Amino acid sequence: MDLLVVGAGLYGLTVAEQAAQSGLDVVVIDRRDHLGGNAYSSVDEATGIEVHRYGSHIFHTSNERVWQYVRRFTAFTDYRHRVFSTHAGTVYPLPINLGTLNQFFHAAMGPAAAQALIAEQAAQAGVDAESAANLEDKAVALIGRPLYEAFIRGYTHKQWQTDPRELPASVIARLPVRYTYDNRYFSDTYEGLPAHGYGPWLEAMASHPRIDVRLGVDFFDPTQPFSKDRVRGQAPIVYTGPVDRYFDHSAGPLAWRTLDLETQTLPVRDFQGTSVMNYPDLDVPYTRIHEFRHFHPEREDRHAQDRTVIAREFSRPAGPDDEPYYPVSTPADRERLRQYRELAEDEPGVHFGGRLGSYLYLDMHMAIASALQFWGQGAVTAGTGLRSAR
Ligand code: FAD
Repeated sequence: MDLLVVGAGLYGLTVAEQAAQSGLDVVVIDRRDHLGGNAYSSVDEATGIEVHRYGSHIFHTSNERVWQYVRRFTAFTDYRHRVFSTHAGTVYPLPINLGTLNQFFHAAMGPAAAQALIAEQAAQAGVDAESAANLEDKAVALIGRPLYEAFIRGYTHKQWQTDPRELPASVIARLPVRYTYDNRYFSDTYEGLPAHGYGPWLEAMASHPRIDVRLGVDFFDPTQPFSKDRVRGQAPIVYTGPVDRYFDHSAGPLAWRTLDLETQTLPVRDFQGTSVMNYPDLDVPYTRIHEFRHFHPEREDRHAQDRTVIAREFSRPAGPDDEPYYPVSTPADRERLRQYRELAEDEPGVHFGGRLGSYLYLDMHMAIASALQFWGQGAVTAGTGLRSAR
């Protein structure tokens, strides 16, 4: 073995694939029983519907290099993501656009009138976005109180399980309002879903004969041959698990939010007519409902016609045994992260990467770009042993 990759998510798989291409023998371990980390999906046998097991994943990028790279392993459909929001018994298109505004204000405004209205509502808030003391003040300063109350307040409250007045303003950088009817959720150049599913894409990335994948293997289990105890100092390691766990939480735990997805098969062909519906109101306990068949309209002939699969999404702080999904990143977390980064600098032959290893939210294309960049620096080459895995 020339390199151990801990974690078979998109970061780890990209590094493994690149290393194998350059002639290294790579072992990839993951404590889960499947490839792909959170991007994993599988086909529900009863309905033929591909279910995203960790929440809806849509691939999108404007990075030409990443787009060329991923298409070596899979073709993509021309799916374009659109999200809707059910507020007070009415469905609105998101992100907030001219359609949302005209429906919400029962108006027929053009772009200039809508812009003037939002500017007026934001000014009425009497708060400056730059100096806002909390998330609520900042949101109200950006889009005015009525839209904030309808689409942001309850959703944010449910996401963070915290009143937005107690969340830092920095949680939102901006709240884009589109003064057109464009309701494409992502504005990247390229977008789609892997044509044959995430499984075949991820398997293709791991299929190089120099890659040896071991699933159900925990790096911190001292009884297995690729454990931290046995490999550290013996071979270069790319570690994509939680950085605080690597150092036994010595500087304290980094806070994450997790999601509970309640997946259900319903006896109807089509439950909500779209892939993702948001629920921003506080009297509904979940934040969104995913309906997976809508990600692949081109597969309708293979989908059950009398049933559908949905998942209700609930958000809460992650406990020690939960899957970490989104970094919370309070000032205390950032201080801990600084300490872990210092420890990581001094850890010989180990590179920390991916969303868990760097404590950053990364979209799939960002994880892949970051792995390609790391590998492009010539970090590890055959026979160099330990010296420069970072
Ligand atoms: P991960 O996918 O988390 O992989 C890390 C792997 O390390 C995991 O498989 C884990 O099991 C393994 N591991 C951890 N500890 C150990 C250990 N001790 N031993 C062995 N293995 C270990 N991105 C998009 O581009 N589009 C989307 O629509 C999108 N939607 C998302 C929705 C949700 C709910 C979430 C949470 C993320 C979403 N993402 C989306 C982001 C996407 O999932 C990540 O960017 C990407 O999967 C990151 O890859 P990664 O390899 O860094 O991490």
